[in-house]
Amino acid sequence: MYDLLIKNATVIDGSGEASFVADLASSGGKIVDIAQHISTQARLVVQAEGLVLAPGFIDVQNHSDSYWCLFDNPSLDSNILQGFTSMLVGNCGTSLAPLLSREALKSSQKWHNLSGTNFNWTTFSEFAETLSSMRFGGNVGSMVGYSTLRRGLIGDAHRSLSEAESSVLLEAFISALKAGAFGLSTGLSYSHEASVSELELYDLAKIATEHNALFSVHLRDEAEHLAESVEEAIEIAQRCGVRLKISHFKVRGKANWYILPEVLERLELAVHQGADISLDMYPYTSTWQPLYTYLPKWATQAGRDGMIRMLGDEVQYKKILSYLHEHSDLLRDLVVASTSYQMRVIGKSFGLIAERLGVSVEEALLEVLKNGGAEILVFDACLDEQQVRDLLLHPLSVVATDGGGFNPAGATKHADKLVHPRSFGAAPKFLAFMRQDKKLSLETAIAKLTSVPARIWGLKNRGQIAIGNVADLVLFNPLQIDSQASLVNPFHTPVGIQKVWVNGELAVDGGAVTGNRSGVFLRRL
Ligand SMILES: [Zn+2]
Repeated sequence: MYDLLIKNATVIDGSGEASFVADLASSGGKIVDIAQHISTQARLVVQAEGLVLAPGFIDVQNHSDSYWCLFDNPSLDSNILQGFTSMLVGNCGTSLAPLLSREALKSSQKWHNLSGTNFNWTTFSEFAETLSSMRFGGNVGSMVGYSTLRRGLIGDAHRSLSEAESSVLLEAFISALKAGAFGLSTGLSYSHEASVSELELYDLAKIATEHNALFSVHLRDEAEHLAESVEEAIEIAQRCGVRLKISHFKVRGKANWYILPEVLERLELAVHQGADISLDMYPYTSTWQPLYTYLPKWATQAGRDGMIRMLGDEVQYKKILSYLHEHSDLLRDLVVASTSYQMRVIGKSFGLIAERLGVSVEEALLEVLKNGGAEILVFDACLDEQQVRDLLLHPLSVVATDGGGFNPAGATKHADKLVHPRSFGAAPKFLAFMRQDKKLSLETAIAKLTSVPARIWGLKNRGQIAIGNVADLVLFNPLQIDSQASLVNPFHTPVGIQKVWVNGELAVDGGAVTGNRSGVFLRRL
């Protein structure tokens, strides 16, 4: 007697090879048989004619830790409802461990209000122990955030590390790797990593290489200096031989879109020469990011407290204002996604907010920044739709959410907050695009969601349907699958996904979460 028998499914095994119709059986959380006809009985039998059975999708760019979803909403609904069964967190330079001091956690305050949050760990090993005692909707693994390490050591200071500090930092990274961390992530565009030198990065990347771990890069610049920023990433991959992933790859700003072909050519050449580089991306044209990132770098370098002090100083305020004035066309259309600002501004553009306040767009932005709390996020429609679609087809790209696991009831639960729709719809939207464009086979598209990200992550026994592998599975209707989430109504669940299994347990049934929470904390090795 098997635990589960899925009959007559169109199996797309994740390898990119052609689909085939078969039965699949699992027991004890593992795939135990795949054959044209399996006659052994099972506790649960699912008829799957006309439906695609694929490996559970793998999200190599997830923020469920820094958005605090792991604790606020451990069922990670919005991730598993779209077919993701494993999520890699600790991205963009920020992880929840190790905490070399209390300052370390401040790295995540740009995404989540930390007041009132509790945690009982300092080392990665203690963090792993805490998370291992929890049950999640999907599996979760974590990298170490470079900013988390650095701020734990030197707080808000912007300087290079002393030799002694550097060795403490490298030791902390090594012990995190030994405790199961999957690699290191950087957030080079954020204020606290702006002064990080390439040499610091090389030291870390070399350690990652020695441990066969991942090095994830949130580029220094995704706009006019994209080419140099990508060059920096290529240099790390080539010099250190590290497996490198560029996070949420894109070109921001219409004036910069023309750079893409040249950058892609450069990346292709590097990969051709042997560098191990991949790009993760989401199929949307709007970004979701902290509002402070629109300020000039010099205004944010001293951390949030320093920035607030500057905004309170008349001379500095005017300097910032005139910097913003040059970019006011772009700022006008930014839409506020979350803030604790007293006036109702969620879902409104700065153009509209400025009108209501009777001030200029730049003044409105600074007013919200000054009085809207630490966590102010905005949507910015700065990407080109055709480029996004073309990039999705590129052999180096995989699809990831760059989002968190939120509750679909969020629309009513958090009326004061919008999340990016990619948290609910990245995978289904990508598969719907592929169905419309007909430029990529479904088999190749599924590989970009499964075996390819599994290799990037360094996950074993997942990402491919094969006997002996873990029974993380998605059953969906290829003609229907699509996202329903939008910037205005992000808390909508996708259509076309019938069932999702995590470690052999049914996690999603009929488009709703079962509440089984069979996901576990994953460790490297
Ligand atoms: Zn990032």
